[in-house]
Amino acid sequence: MLYYSTNKQESGVSLRDVVIKGLADDKGLYMPDFIPVLPGEFYRNIDKMSLQEISFYVSDHLFGEDIPKKDLKQIVYDTLSFDIPLVKVNDSIYSLELFHGPTLAFKDVGARFMSRMLSHFIRKETKADDLVHVLVATSGDTGSAVANGFLGVKGIHVHVLYPKGLVSNIQESQFTTLGQNITALEVNGTFDDCQALVKTAFADKELNARMKLTSANSINVARFLPQAFYYFHAYAQLKKISQEAVDNLVICVPSGNFGNITAGLVAKRMGLPVKRFIAANNRNDVFLEYLQTGKYNPRKSIPTIANAMDVGDPSNFARVLDLYNYSHEAITADISGFRYTDEEIADAIRQCKTSSGYLLDPHGACGYQALKDGLQSHETGIFLETAHPAKFLETVEKIIGEKIEIPLKLQAFMQGKKQSITMSKNFEEFKKYLTS
Ligand SMILES: *Cc1c(COP(=O)(O)O)cnc(C)c1O
Repeated sequence: MLYYSTNKQESGVSLRDVVIKGLADDKGLYMPDFIPVLPGEFYRNIDKMSLQEISFYVSDHLFGEDIPKKDLKQIVYDTLSFDIPLVKVNDSIYSLELFHGPTLAFKDVGARFMSRMLSHFIRKETKADDLVHVLVATSGDTGSAVANGFLGVKGIHVHVLYPKGLVSNIQESQFTTLGQNITALEVNGTFDDCQALVKTAFADKELNARMKLTSANSINVARFLPQAFYYFHAYAQLKKISQEAVDNLVICVPSGNFGNITAGLVAKRMGLPVKRFIAANNRNDVFLEYLQTGKYNPRKSIPTIANAMDVGDPSNFARVLDLYNYSHEAITADISGFRYTDEEIADAIRQCKTSSGYLLDPHGACGYQALKDGLQSHETGIFLETAHPAKFLETVEKIIGEKIEIPLKLQAFMQGKKQSITMSKNFEEFKKYLTS
């Protein structure tokens, strides 16, 4: 399979190159040349397959020409070594819990898949002592998913840059306690300073001549496409419960950069019988405005309690447009949208807990509420619960007025020993660190 850039200045690029490069030179996002439609037999029998089997089958159709079957199977099985349960919330709404990975965030799957795919491609090219260095700037969640996704992967060293004092304790513990091939750099500055250091490093000719640098950005195809697995798996789980329900399936995705939902749209294009999608947003509603008006006005993000969705210019919007050939009519036929204020998110968390006993996180709460507001009477909805509520501990405890239990997995991080290297926002200091 070859890939082209959504800006159309690049085409015929190999999977290896798109995974190593991330973003195209014309600043577009890579898309597969064609999207294979999977046979009806697969969909008829999908409820008899495991998450790993489904994901391997889908991967084989997307990446099978570019990676030997045996290696691809290893990548998929290694990535999805945890369950993704579908939990009934009420008679018409189900939660697909994507938060059972190592950092309790849905980004774990993409990060793990990418680390293993990158490792596959560079293994043959680099000498044993010739490490590939992944640089990632984080304001919290991406750093933990990427650090944990790459933990222990041979041939790759990850440097996580984060702003000192500006990430939560739980988040900090998730990338500073790992050791091995992960180094946390505590930068005296803001998130923007961290990002500037990384960008300057990628642009520094001398540095790039001396060492192999790459990014684990969320627009990378190897992080983007594996998210399609969730949708096939969700369909399979609901089919086990009710054929009638699955024939009238609506999937709702709490969205920020729109990578997750766009992977769902790719799954639909591969023949997955989902009736339609709902994009749930917080107050950052630039996509909803596009659905309503046909106009796209990117803007600065507004801080909310569902902060992983605080995005004012979703990077995957280019992929949505490309997938539907820039047709507003075609896009609105498949996707509708809802937006919620912090107060509405808090209400949804309380209402859901009281009526069903199910505890939502602020992101999943947008998804749940959008199904409540958008489902028709004969439809069944699945929302993707993208994070464990304990990851937003103070916010959720304040909303429900109760203490919540911290899962053992999170507690384990918090008990680890923090290791980090303090650094100024001066590039020469960062460069010296990298080359020493
Ligand atoms: C990243 C993230 C989102 C948004 O996902 P996109 O693919 O960027 O739309 C939603 N919820 C949580 C918890 C996240 O970490």
